[in-house]
Amino acid sequence: MTDANTATGDAGGQPLLEVTGLKKHFPVTKGVFARVVGQVHAVDGVSFTIGRGETLGLVGESGCGKSTVGRTVLKLLEPTGGSIRVKGSDITDLSPKDMLPYRREMQMIFQDPYASLNPRMQAGAVVREPLVIHNVGSKAEQQERVAWLFEKVGLRPERMYAYAHEFSGGQRQRIGIARALAVNPELMVCDEPVSALDVSIQAQIINLLMDLQDEFQLSYLFISHDLAVVEHISHKVAVMYLGRIVEATDKASLFDMPLHPYTEALLSAVPIPDAKARTRQRMILQGDVPSPINPPSGCHFHARCPYAMARCRTESPPLREVVPGHLTACHLHDGGVTFPLAKPAGT
Ligand code: SF4
Repeated sequence: MTDANTATGDAGGQPLLEVTGLKKHFPVTKGVFARVVGQVHAVDGVSFTIGRGETLGLVGESGCGKSTVGRTVLKLLEPTGGSIRVKGSDITDLSPKDMLPYRREMQMIFQDPYASLNPRMQAGAVVREPLVIHNVGSKAEQQERVAWLFEKVGLRPERMYAYAHEFSGGQRQRIGIARALAVNPELMVCDEPVSALDVSIQAQIINLLMDLQDEFQLSYLFISHDLAVVEHISHKVAVMYLGRIVEATDKASLFDMPLHPYTEALLSAVPIPDAKARTRQRMILQGDVPSPINPPSGCHFHARCPYAMARCRTESPPLREVVPGHLTACHLHDGGVTFPLAKPAGT
């Protein structure tokens, strides 16, 4: 953990990815002249780092902005504010041309493996495409690498001549992983990579990603709404709510000692295999995630929080380190850490 506003750090020196105060706002327009009448605050000041060979799980409900973080980090969307550094170099304002060398180092695995593969291309051509774009090797060398990549992701190389519709969902995701891996990236943004797959297949894909991480020292920004999946693959976890990180720490601390009421609610919904070993009371959140166009004042979570106090409606709690290595944005811990969470007297 580096400082109070940075979710997760790299103990081994310079992080591979360093995101500081990242913002992505989308204009809301109205009328024939597309007059801007507001802004969607999809990502509103997010900071985190990812070290080499490390997985940061970014978790939260649908619409919290986590996928927008992934796309903005890769500069598939231009950030509204903040900075993105890769191995110490600031890429925030680089032009598409200047971004090209960084695109090799940062690849994406998408949620829907079918939609992300061109149905008119053979699977081998899909995997080879990044090699062509980045002008890596001769055609024969590219074909050889594609065959090797197919083996690496658990597909028979002769399947490279088949089309996307001839593969199962899990196999299509393996093709997506092979494509992402083709140009030897260091960072992969995995955007809900298993949520469209059957549970049995999910485990296979997660295990494949973990094996590849071990073999190639890959770093993952792993975006998911599923805490059970995030617990399995992540070293560190950041919890997002309405465009902001509300809690961030190492995996064990987050699951053993959640310090933010939103994290507590998310965890209470995760099934526990051995009910005798740990008891966890189910906490049902009231209401929907508020609109990011007009987020609530103070703590964005106050309208749904069972612990909300008067000041929560007006004062926005900063993300700060309340236990070494454990950051949270909640007024409950202002007078010292409160765990398990308890309602303050008089609320
Ligand atoms: Fe709940 Fe207040 Fe903490 Fe927000 S700051 S999570 S409303 S207790």
